[in-house]
Amino acid sequence: TYPLSNLAAIDAAHHLHPFSDMKKLNADGTRIIQRGEGVHIFDSHGKKYLDGFAGLWCVNIGYGRKEIADAVAKQMNELPYYNTFFGTTSSPTTLLAEKVTSKAGPRFNHIFFTGSGSEANDTWFRMARVYWAAVGKPQKKTVIARRNGYHGSTVAGASLGGMKYMHEQGDLPIPGIVHIGQPYWYGEGGDLTPAEFGLKVARELEAKIDELGEENVAAFVAEPIQGAAGVIIPPETYWPEIDRICKARNILLVTDEVICGFGRLGEWFGHQYFGVEPDFAPIAKGLSSGYLPIGGVLVSDRIADVLINEVGDFNHGFTYSGHPVCAAAALENLRIIEEEKLVERVRDDIGLYFAKKWGALAEHDFVGEAESIGLMGGLQLAADKKTRTRFEKPDPIGSLVRNHALANGLVLRATGDRMLASPPLVIRHEEVDEMARIAKLALDAAWKELRA
Ligand code: PLP
Repeated sequence: TYPLSNLAAIDAAHHLHPFSDMKKLNADGTRIIQRGEGVHIFDSHGKKYLDGFAGLWCVNIGYGRKEIADAVAKQMNELPYYNTFFGTTSSPTTLLAEKVTSKAGPRFNHIFFTGSGSEANDTWFRMARVYWAAVGKPQKKTVIARRNGYHGSTVAGASLGGMKYMHEQGDLPIPGIVHIGQPYWYGEGGDLTPAEFGLKVARELEAKIDELGEENVAAFVAEPIQGAAGVIIPPETYWPEIDRICKARNILLVTDEVICGFGRLGEWFGHQYFGVEPDFAPIAKGLSSGYLPIGGVLVSDRIADVLINEVGDFNHGFTYSGHPVCAAAALENLRIIEEEKLVERVRDDIGLYFAKKWGALAEHDFVGEAESIGLMGGLQLAADKKTRTRFEKPDPIGSLVRNHALANGLVLRATGDRMLASPPLVIRHEEVDEMARIAKLALDAAWKELRA
């Protein structure tokens, strides 16, 4: 036992939090989450929340799955750690490599393990340069990414990401990374139709390649659906055009699957949903449903062949690359996803139900657009929905809705003037109803407050 009442004070005294206004947090007190069960979490006061965000887009199989705890305990007892350097491995790690690649389609037969999604992005960033150098094109080094993309918090990850508020801290991006526009029709589409806008933004990639010279460009990276930017679902014309350009211009395509992977869109991976053919796919989060930290990069045959047969020794890796206990958790997680047919469930049942309920929030005066694919939903708050006018100062608007949702027992994330949802894939129909009910209540309360 420990003095729960003191935890907030201890936290304020010693814990520096990621992505948190720490001064405010220390004044208000940290929320301490004690327990999870299914789609619910419970804080230290015993208050129950429906977690509409699956932790941080990751608890796909829901909380409290004893099967994972048992698999982890068994592996801990048998072999708590070994590395994958210098030609060694452990059985869960190897079995996981086979299982994950079997879900990723015929292009992917290899994976490089990491401890996180950020490390996965750093890994392909180096691997792409190593690949081009090995095939006699060492000058193909620049990576094109997107404004408001998110690819992690390491130096390369934050540079690949296009978040201004991250670039401003630490003088990023590093050289060799440039950004183009995002397919955010509601905010930036102007008078164009979504289809026209999707093509226009995709063609920024072609223009950037021309500007830099094709011989200097290594890769283009994007999330299948931008997550941290606010669940920005691209117009239908966007991905086919990106895929076409990458192939035509001999640029590697990287789909960052850290959020979209493992069933969130009703397919195993987001690139399968959009029908594109990436060369690398960084993964993490849903790989273990967040139960233990593990990530990796799916590496297509084109790259793996050169890496194995030409490069031989890729001088890169992490102490926890393919950690056996994390791998055991991931293996059990994938077994559950398969056995409970969670991917199919999202595609054919609960994802469609969620789309109906989440989509209906667009009827609210305060909501310009509410879209989703599978169990990934984005909602645009608008000052005037008739004219598609956004709030002059979007930042506090979403937080207002989020706080009302929290007070009523629902976790949603806010980014500026967008609300983000990504519940566990095991969410039941009546829990989707509950999510929609509280979201509407929060919208009502925030709208009233804004108009007062
Ligand atoms: N890529 C995407 C698309 C993400 O959403 C995230 C995290 O949210 C990352 C990479 C970074 O993953 P991690 O936080 O595990 O380093």
